[in-house]
Amino acid sequence: MSVDIYRIIPKDPYKKVSQDKLNAAKSFIESAIVCDSVDLIITDTPNFYDCASNFEMITCPKCGKEISFDWWGEAMDIAWKDDFNKLDIILPCCGEVASLNDLCYDFKCGFACCSINIRDPEKLIDEDVILIESVQKILDCETSMIIAHI
Ligand SMILES: [Zn+2]
Repeated sequence: MSVDIYRIIPKDPYKKVSQDKLNAAKSFIESAIVCDSVDLIITDTPNFYDCASNFEMITCPKCGKEISFDWWGEAMDIAWKDDFNKLDIILPCCGEVASLNDLCYDFKCGFACCSINIRDPEKLIDEDVILIESVQKILDCETSMIIAHI
């Protein structure tokens, strides 16, 4: 059986959000929507949150060319060895510098030091502006939403 997990993460990969704020956001989401569960993940260094089987393609944010998964996998291995503290890389297509966080992942993926995981919400929430704005206000930062199909 497959599940959809909607992950709300700060846009800034290094942003630290306090446990209190994350708890407040979790309580808010639980009161605002119907879903199987809401879980929190907090890490000291950025974690890569992917979209699982929704992951189809990566393209360059500078020149728009497709980036191979082989090249990306190696770049991720190197960055992972340094706990993702350095995300800047030289792009293989155009030689420009970009953060691994800013590559164009399709569907969206991203790095973050925390994630609010909403499992199987009853309705689609990725365009629920009121919900997203309220969570951003509670967390006091801008957020991205990663939709993982597992
Ligand atoms: Zn490029």
